[in-house]
Amino acid sequence: MEANLNTSSSHSETPNSAVVHSATKTGFLNFSRPDWTQYFTEKKIPGFRSTQAADWIFKHFVTSPDQMSNVSKDLRADLAQDFDWTLPEIVSALNSKDGSTKLLLKTPTGQYIESVILRYEGRVSLCVSSQVGCKMACSFCQTGKLGFFRHLTTHEIIAQYLIAARIVREEGRRLSHVVFMGMGEPLDNYDNVVKSVNMLVSPDGFGLSARHVTVSTSGVVPKIRDLAKDARCALAVSLHAARDDLRQEIMPINRKWPLSELKSALLDYQRETGDKITFEYILIREKNCGLREAKDLMKFLHGFKAKVNLIPFNAHPGMPYDRPSDDEIRAFQVYLADRSIAAPVRYSKGLDVSGACGQLAAKTEESIHLAPARKNVVAGKTPNVLA
Ligand code: SAH
Ligand code: SF4
Repeated sequence: MEANLNTSSSHSETPNSAVVHSATKTGFLNFSRPDWTQYFTEKKIPGFRSTQAADWIFKHFVTSPDQMSNVSKDLRADLAQDFDWTLPEIVSALNSKDGSTKLLLKTPTGQYIESVILRYEGRVSLCVSSQVGCKMACSFCQTGKLGFFRHLTTHEIIAQYLIAARIVREEGRRLSHVVFMGMGEPLDNYDNVVKSVNMLVSPDGFGLSARHVTVSTSGVVPKIRDLAKDARCALAVSLHAARDDLRQEIMPINRKWPLSELKSALLDYQRETGDKITFEYILIREKNCGLREAKDLMKFLHGFKAKVNLIPFNAHPGMPYDRPSDDEIRAFQVYLADRSIAAPVRYSKGLDVSGACGQLAAKTEESIHLAPARKNVVAGKTPNVLA
């Protein structure tokens, strides 16, 4: 969707997050390159000037017009006037022993979200949040325990990238990968996530490789089909069980979209994009990783060019589950390997700072060992975005 910069209130009902409303300005990171071009065209500013200004954001990660040194003073003043340049505030940056960093960020509306910088030998990746909380209520996930507060805007999603990219640049490295595996269900915040993905992978946006941006979903079936057409990115599916009674016990979304519907949408996705789908499978002791469940999984995978990641469950306070023993993990893996399914075991990073998969619950250093609580998410004044 292109930008509509008419600031009159008659446009305030349009769903486009890039619109400048009369009362509130749009965040500068809501704007894709085509949005900037349209903005400058409406202002009758020549093409090269618009390219320069947008390059400061997409290539140099600036956070204010003051930093756009070759842009005229008048234009910088206009940009300062027309856009909201506020970024989420970094409340804390907790460094894990394994080299990852969990950033606790506070939005201008006084809510907390988390992003995790994951440093590997050959690449640096960022795990971003797409919502404050999550509606899906998966029984094994801390974010799910918080409940849902609100969707993040494109500006707030891209801001997580910009903040982390600046940190990583200081270290002489490039933030090359993004995974939508932080707080929230990305496909439940479809428009803002799709716009963010497209800004990240577009060559005239942040220019990441489409294979390096991964959207992870618990299985929002209609949106999986839409995604195949609307964005170029990798898709990961949180499967965790391949039998309806078990999956709906641990993932309530399975009641709405059972495995047969999920599979049919994923096969369509595979046909449409030609891409391999990654299945994430948490291994929970005495729950989903016995022989019967391995057989169910094999049956489900039939027809896919799939990759499977096995993730030993990350324990946290107040959860009735455990991680299986190494032998149990190995047996599950070998069952799949014997049937030509490579399923690497992925140990999550950031476990010691509560930044691993499923542990993001907007906690500070002090509350890290406590069960997740809704009050952790909201700081200070009650934000009016809470319905
Ligand atoms: N909502 C999306 C993306 C965020 S969750 C989704 O569910 O796919 C990111 C990943 O962490 C998902 O695969 C999720 O199932 C997994 N996860 C959640 N709780 C976990 C836990 N306790 N241990 C290991 N992985 C967990
Ligand atoms: Fe939401 Fe994903 Fe956690 Fe489920 S696993 S509650 S979908 S964040």
